[in-house]
Order: sequence, then C-alpha cells, then structure tokens
Amino acid sequence: MTIPNSIAIDGPASSGKSTIGVRLAERLGYLFFDTGIMYRAVTLAVIRKGIDINDEDEVTRLAQIVHIDVRSPSIADGRKEDVLLDGEDVTWAIRDPEVEKWVSKISAYAGVRRAMTQLQRRIGKRGRVVMVGRDIGTVVMPDADLKIYLDASLEERARRRYQELVQRGESVTLKEVLVGLKKRDQIDSSREIAPLKPAKDAVILNTDGLSIEEVLKKALELCGVVGNE
Ligand code: C5P
Repeated sequence: MTIPNSIAIDGPASSGKSTIGVRLAERLGYLFFDTGIMYRAVTLAVIRKGIDINDEDEVTRLAQIVHIDVRSPSIADGRKEDVLLDGEDVTWAIRDPEVEKWVSKISAYAGVRRAMTQLQRRIGKRGRVVMVGRDIGTVVMPDADLKIYLDASLEERARRRYQELVQRGESVTLKEVLVGLKKRDQIDSSREIAPLKPAKDAVILNTDGLSIEEVLKKALELCGVVGNE
C-alpha cells in the first residue's frame, strides 16, 4: 500500500483533529495545515476592527484582504504553529472565547468560505499534506487519498476542551464549554455551504475512551504505516 499523499481530517470541535493531524504529519514528514486557524483569524480581525458581525458584505470584504500567515512555532509555549494576522502574532488571541463565540457565524458566510477555500485548495494541490477542518474531505480536497472523520461524544469533547482552557489559565466552567461547543457544532453542521459532515468515502473514527496514542495508531494503520511513534 502506498502512503496517501493528501490526507483530510474532519470532525466536530475538540474531536482531536489537530492533535492527531500534527502527529500524523510529523510522522510522515508532511505539512500540517489547520484550516480552523484561518476562520479564527478572520473572526479576530472582524472583532478588532469593530465590524458588525451581521454585516456579511463588510465581513467578506475584510476576509478577502486580510493577510494570514502560518509558520513553524517560534516559541515553545505549547503552540503548534505561529499564526500571524497582518504581521502580528495572534497565535493565542485566535483561541479567545470571544473568537469562539462568533467564528461559526462568520464561517457560514459564502464569501468568507470562498476566500479561505481558494487558499486551502492551493496548499492541498501541492500534496504531502495533512489538512484538518470541517469540509476538507467534502469540499476543499474531495480527491484526498485518505479521509478521516474524527468523532467523539459532546461530553468527552467538552471535558478535553475544558482541561485545555483551564491549563491555559482561562476561567470557564465545564457547562459553558459544553454549551459553546454544542452551539458551534450546530451552526457548523446545519449551514448551507460546506456543512460539517463526513465525506461518503471517509473512515469514521470514534475516539471516545481512546488515548491520543491509540487514535494515532489507527490513523497510521489507515496510512499503511504500522506501529507507533
Ligand atoms: O477547528 P476549529 O475549532 O479551530 O475551527 C473553528 C471554527 O472554524 C469552526 O467551528 C468552524 O465554524 C470553522 N471552520 C470551518 N471550516 C473549516 C475549519 C473551521 O467552517 N474547514
């Protein structure tokens, strides 16, 4: 079996897509590309510029001109990459609860998706890539050699996300995290354009009760690579 050249990983919020995607890419020597970063960066730009979130035209205009750059991590503070928004390091700012509150609304705008999808497709075409998001297997890379859809129960995902936030010093409750994730998933999976759903040819992996190592092992097996790190 030849190792897939392009790998799409989709799934709901906090299903482990980035954690698994990063490790898989490292193991294969591929580029890891987290498309959620782009939607988060646009959302942060909208908030910072004080643009009305409901003004689809203005939000779309901004999405078309904003400059988002993703580079290898320059600081060892737990980040998987550096995210630059018009040259400024916003790696942690795009993880703010305020960004999370609005990102799904902004991601549902057709013009915003068009702008982001164009760029993502360009990166996907180069191959040797693990790309993660919501619509990678269905829209961005429909011809991906391997499509994985990572899933987990809402409760498990909320617990994981809560732990992450607490470790980062955010003051949130588990209930708030659960409600936020549920709302985001609901908007992401019911939108008209590129809704969150498994591609017809995706392999669905339910990660409830599985450790990162166990999920990674399954993903590596799907790539035809046996054994763990
Ligand atoms: O993956 P992450 O939680 O960082 O994504 C943040 C949000 O960006 C998602 O809730 C979704 O609204 C949007 N998104 C998207 N399509 C993608 C990746 C993310 O709509 N391919």
